[in-house]
Amino acid sequence: DDAALVARRQAALGPAYRLFYETPVHLVRGEGVWLYDRQGEAYLDTYNNVACVGHCHPHVVQAMTAQAATFASHTRYLHDTVVDYAERLLATMPAGIGHMMFTCTGSEANDLAFRIAREATGGTGIIVTENAYHGVTLAVAEASPSLGTGVPLGAHVRTIPPPDPARLGPDVGTAFAAEVQRAIDDLKRHGIRPAALLVDTIFSSDGVFADPPGFLAPAADAIRAAGGLFIADEVQPGFGRTGAGMWGFARHGLVPDMISMGKPMGNGYPVAGLAMRPDVIAEFGARARYFNTFGGNAVAAATAAAVLDVIEDEGLIANARDVGAYLRDGLADLCRRHETLGTIRAAGLFIGADILTDGKPDGARAVRVVNALRRNRVLISASGPRGESLKIRPPLPFSRANADLFLDRLDQALKAN
Ligand code: PMP
Repeated sequence: DDAALVARRQAALGPAYRLFYETPVHLVRGEGVWLYDRQGEAYLDTYNNVACVGHCHPHVVQAMTAQAATFASHTRYLHDTVVDYAERLLATMPAGIGHMMFTCTGSEANDLAFRIAREATGGTGIIVTENAYHGVTLAVAEASPSLGTGVPLGAHVRTIPPPDPARLGPDVGTAFAAEVQRAIDDLKRHGIRPAALLVDTIFSSDGVFADPPGFLAPAADAIRAAGGLFIADEVQPGFGRTGAGMWGFARHGLVPDMISMGKPMGNGYPVAGLAMRPDVIAEFGARARYFNTFGGNAVAAATAAAVLDVIEDEGLIANARDVGAYLRDGLADLCRRHETLGTIRAAGLFIGADILTDGKPDGARAVRVVNALRRNRVLISASGPRGESLKIRPPLPFSRANADLFLDRLDQALKAN
């Protein structure tokens, strides 16, 4: 039974892993926007930005297995798939972004970005938001304050408040850039040259902050004026989720110096990477060599290319825009009926909805709502500094009917909690 498996899991994997939910969901299969447990119960997945084109999409599975059956090697032999894919991905980027390097995880992509930024700028200072999460390698964990006391922040790391209008005021762009400037000044006072500002282009672990479009541009200007680079973490918003093109930064009217990506890229196959302006890698390229055994392997490249096929063929960016707007309207309607549902923040199918008590964020109530939804067969998570914000990121083929079902179940969960 499940309790026995939980015990075996704990014994085999050790104490560092956590499971979602008071009663874990024991999954055996996925299809489209649905996940199935071992009793055959279907769960609506509104959590998962990994299965971005839908769980086990047949076109992606076919491309992955066909390549695995042809050859699956490490990356030091010449093969077409990685070059074809890199060219295709770069074609989705603005002019000026010219190279694509491959890793297996978003963490490694951000780690590589730090290494390149150090070489390019001669600095070491890194600026991130207060509750940011950017990954697990030691260098990145040291710049991921949401890990809490587990990993102390590096002495070269500075944190700034997230672009929350409730904290920074209505002119978020100017205020956020001023926070970046304060961090730059503090680094310099300590004799540390700034290397990079690393932020999500739709904020996620700080809570979802998406508006107004364009608010990141002044912050990017500030870090560049100080000799540092602007790195966009697209691990969550990338690959069409915002409904405004392939990349979250497009909403901000800026071109990052480097762009890290992962999660949705392989629809579950581990593939990630870093795109960049060619000039930022000149120093690193001259001094260092980079080898990642599995990064850009033929199966990864074929799988990721198939994900791009599906995004294009099924019009998933337009769907994210359309169903995202529909869902946002439905949530706004629920807000009017439940005083425990607060601000809705959204860009396409990347939506945050705060859970409140007496107008204040309430993480404990959010946990109750998340568990009530799980009992009602809807999977979702919460984020934000107090875990108060429902984070709604379904697979991109999410339909209006799926949205109606979600809104109905959320309505019930809010009524009961
Ligand atoms: N950046 C962001 C914004 C993330 O959400 C994550 C993963 N949660 C990462 C980086 C790290 O990606 P990975 O788990 O693939 O290493």
